[in-house]
Amino acid sequence: MTPYDEVSYSKDTDESASLQRPSRDEAEAAVKVLLKWAGDDPSREGLVDTPARVVRSYEEFFAGYAENPEEMLTRTFEEIEGYDDMVMLRDISLQSHCEHHMVPILGKAHIAYMPDKRVVGISKLARVLDIFAKRLQTQETMTSQIADTIQNALKPRGVALLIDANHECMSTRGVCKTDVSMITTRFTGVFETDPDLRARFYEHMKLGK
Ligand SMILES: [Zn+2]
Repeated sequence: MTPYDEVSYSKDTDESASLQRPSRDEAEAAVKVLLKWAGDDPSREGLVDTPARVVRSYEEFFAGYAENPEEMLTRTFEEIEGYDDMVMLRDISLQSHCEHHMVPILGKAHIAYMPDKRVVGISKLARVLDIFAKRLQTQETMTSQIADTIQNALKPRGVALLIDANHECMSTRGVCKTDVSMITTRFTGVFETDPDLRARFYEHMKLGK
């Protein structure tokens, strides 16, 4: 029997049963099915190791399910010598996958916050972005989740987030439009109430360009 024959998903209607993670063998067998669906022969030399590679890639692409983004932000620094102005991370590269087609979303994120006595190590902001990006996503959902998590965990006076990304489900299939980028934003706290602060956020985005 090939691994392909062994795939048998539980018909149990219990939700927890249907969410059970399949074994690595089951996942690799599913990739073989997709290779056949594409019209190729999974047993030919070039494809023999592909299911194992794809499954390992999935462990990287979707590593965010195993991590807790709020925990990531619990270690903060309070000695900031009275610094109370905007802290911004610009041009953070973003790799995600769209939940509708499971193809890449590639872009950049710009994150800012107005500290309230506490700051967080700058790499942590990029890590929070990655935890949400490394799941199946829509750009809109990811934008809200990242900004709201920073707001809830760090409790700054406000958070600003802009994501600018290309969706391969639009450039390589469907309408096949390349070089289209989608922009989503989320502003909380003072960024929501103060248009001048938002304007400074946009100005900072353009600095040095
Ligand atoms: Zn899509």
